[in-house]
Amino acid sequence: MNQEFEAIAQLFQTRTPFRHPTTSLGNGDDASVHHIPEGMELVVSTDIAVEGVHWPQDMRLDIAGSRAVNAALSDLAAMGAVPAWIWLAISAKDKQSLAQMSDGIVQTCLTHNVELAGGDTVSAPINSINVTVGGLLSKDTAMTRSAAKVNDEAWILGDSGLSAAGLKQWLSGQQHGSFVPHFQMITPLYKQGAALRELGIQSCIDISDGLLQDLGHISKASQVCIQIDINLVKQLDSYQQLQAVFNTEETLKMMLSGGEDFALCFTAPATKYTSLIELGAKHIGFCCKGNGVQLMQGEKIIDYNIKGYDHFG
Ligand code: ADP
Ligand code: MG
Repeated sequence: MNQEFEAIAQLFQTRTPFRHPTTSLGNGDDASVHHIPEGMELVVSTDIAVEGVHWPQDMRLDIAGSRAVNAALSDLAAMGAVPAWIWLAISAKDKQSLAQMSDGIVQTCLTHNVELAGGDTVSAPINSINVTVGGLLSKDTAMTRSAAKVNDEAWILGDSGLSAAGLKQWLSGQQHGSFVPHFQMITPLYKQGAALRELGIQSCIDISDGLLQDLGHISKASQVCIQIDINLVKQLDSYQQLQAVFNTEETLKMMLSGGEDFALCFTAPATKYTSLIELGAKHIGFCCKGNGVQLMQGEKIIDYNIKGYDHFG
């Protein structure tokens, strides 16, 4: 048998038997075929992860595989969609690299009960993993970046800065640093995202490039100013955790601009306050008239020049 097809079958297809109930034609043809149940909508997103850019060269490739799938699923979480399928485009330096990446990818599909509905596999000088994800949600209920309103409160659900702390430890040679697992293991919060959507939350984003930078997307798309209260940020669990190891300046920098925690940030009218606390979300700011994201200490605007990640910056 052709070695490429044998590898695809052995490493991917036979290890991911799960078929989503909406799939009428699964992996193995030129494309997969799915039906969208009545009253539902299809939500699709794609993400690329490249060795040396999205993960350090010396990191295990199964971890790179699971990170790539989990990061892609996080985009569905931000929309409030329930994951159903992934499609995988992967380049590998050699067969061993392909096998290692497949371990993490397959395991993550099994963990979240998502179907590996198709893919493309190539040999290339660099390892990279492109994951396209598809999910479902009730018609017209997707959370978007453009639905924040003046007088909404701003919230976060999940960690902030812990992944950046893990990467920092890894890069400084502390491969067993206490935060490294936060960098290596991404938890896509799609159950929480769906719960927010069902609660009627309309505007949400997942934090991949840094809290302030990503909130900037909501601010711009919704044409509101988002004020983040530094005193509320200091009450987050992540702050306590980071302060145990890092100084205040480093801690705040990681919390406000560190990427890849994949927390959900969203806005909501004050009437949702109690329900959101029950979901484990933390209030961190307000939306007001204007534009941009402002860091506040009480009534005072704090100057910050903290930038999130910029691939072309
Ligand atoms: P095509 O040439 O039509 O694009 P391929 O020969 O690349 O198809 O792939 C053969 C089949 O294997 C297709 O059904 C494709 O979706 C699937 N496939 C290829 N690579 C992967 C992968 N890494 N994981 C899962 N399925 C894959
Ligand atoms: Mg084809």
